[in-house]
Amino acid sequence: MPKDQLQGIQSEYDVIVIGSGLAGLTCANILGRMGRRVLVLEHHYQLGGMATWFRRKRGHIFDISLHGFPFGMVKSCKRYWNDDIASRIEPIRGIRFDNPQFSFETTYDRKDFTRILVERFQQPLERVEAFFDKARSFNFYDDDGTTTGQFLERCFPGRNDVHRLLMEPIAYANGSTLDDPALTFGIVFSNFMSKGVYIFKGGTDLMVGLMKKELIRNGVDVRIYSDVERVLVESGRVTGVVCNGRPIRARSVVSNANLRGTIQRLVGEEHFASDFLEKARKVRLSSSSCQVYMGLKPGESFDYLGDLFFTSTLDHFDSVALCAKDVTSRTFSCYYPDTRPGSDRYSIVSSTNANWDDWASLPPEEYEREKAKLIEDTICALERYLPDIRGKLDWIEAATPGTFSRYTKTVHGATFGTKFEGLSVSKAIPEQIAGLWHAGSVGIIMSGWLGTINYGVIVSNEVDSYLSRSNAVRATEEV
Ligand SMILES: Cc1cc2nc3c(=O)[nH]c(=O)nc-3n(C[C@H](O)[C@H](O)[C@H](O)COP(=O)(O)OP(=O)(O)OC[C@H]3O[C@@H](n4cnc5c(N)ncnc54)[C@H](O)[C@@H]3O)c2cc1C
Repeated sequence: MPKDQLQGIQSEYDVIVIGSGLAGLTCANILGRMGRRVLVLEHHYQLGGMATWFRRKRGHIFDISLHGFPFGMVKSCKRYWNDDIASRIEPIRGIRFDNPQFSFETTYDRKDFTRILVERFQQPLERVEAFFDKARSFNFYDDDGTTTGQFLERCFPGRNDVHRLLMEPIAYANGSTLDDPALTFGIVFSNFMSKGVYIFKGGTDLMVGLMKKELIRNGVDVRIYSDVERVLVESGRVTGVVCNGRPIRARSVVSNANLRGTIQRLVGEEHFASDFLEKARKVRLSSSSCQVYMGLKPGESFDYLGDLFFTSTLDHFDSVALCAKDVTSRTFSCYYPDTRPGSDRYSIVSSTNANWDDWASLPPEEYEREKAKLIEDTICALERYLPDIRGKLDWIEAATPGTFSRYTKTVHGATFGTKFEGLSVSKAIPEQIAGLWHAGSVGIIMSGWLGTINYGVIVSNEVDSYLSRSNAVRATEEV
């Protein structure tokens, strides 16, 4: 790593973006395109935040969060990035389920789900249509207090198998549970159902590489190995940040770091009003994840298993069991050579939702033992479907909540940011400190690749208006 990562930076920026997750990058790109002077500071050695990947010896490359997102990514990438990025987004072929309640493959869209709910689960068509219409009608401003569990029970009474079909993929997509507001389920589920599940062809490394090129084309100054220690606030107004021990001035700051980390660590609670802090302290973080990465030997392959494979050995659906350390449910993301056109490699990433507390307090030796057990149990689970897989594996390693926290500085490795209440706290930050915003996974609906990109867009517009307003004030004062 070069000694001075901040060499050549300007004396002041219009905007400093702390963190290069997809919200931070998108916000920076739009503001750069608008002609604002933008600096992105990322503590890690690569950009992307949780939208990331890693390489290992003998040509292995593993994607962390490239499992699937809704079609809306095409529009967002086209508008806020470029046509090249948008054109590489393609539908996945199929999603499979296997659990004691059902086992089949689906294209995961409204048409196929209607067929499955009517034919397989014997639900009347009118009930299924009414469910889809209600799910699609939910919006952010209408939280009537109904939980997802209550909504599903109202639509399909006593049918835990149907609830599982509808909820399990969403729980994996945004960490939500049956106790979260129904609108968070309705919005995310309907986004997926509109056209199915999509993926970026070429891998996360290609996507983030193309984003970096676009940022540079738009004049954004991007620095890695740049750890922001503090956001500077004077008389209720942001004035810059301290990064790698050095103050950098800015007219506005967007923090893409975790919401709680932003308020408590980067800014400091002393700068916020007590009623705001009271709300902020009540914001619950989302759950975290564990993953097992399995790379096949060069030349080895496995038969088509679906692109996403939701498996469970539990005889019913249960949100709490989904995060338990004693794993019963796993999602296998299968990467065939066409994930990265030109490659001949196969790999599988197993993901499970996880609780920070189950892993954080383990003494080092026990932690290593538990990680080894996670790997062994995962291979055994996979052998049920691919009996000869063990002998084909060349590289195996695991990540726990601590891994996600270490690489992204996310409080408690919260994979999807915060629960729903985080959104209003995030949005209220500029009312507390002029010129300061937060953009990043919050509130379930603003999570995942698409949600967080769209939140970055919203924030970029607010920052631009703020900068224009403060330019107008400056000009008036000069007159
Ligand atoms: C295992 C896993 C699987 C997932 N699967 C999917 C999926 O299939 N589909 C989907 O849509 N989403 C998925 N997600 C969620 C998705 O990846 C995230 O919601 C999204 O990428 C978060 O983006 P973000 O911009 O909110 O922030 P983050 O990605 O958390 O980025 C924040 C950035 O800020 C940086 N940072 C923090 N503090 C500082 C500091 N003080 N100084 C400098 N830099 C700092 C971090 O290093 C990081 O780069 C998954 C996530 C995980 C972990």
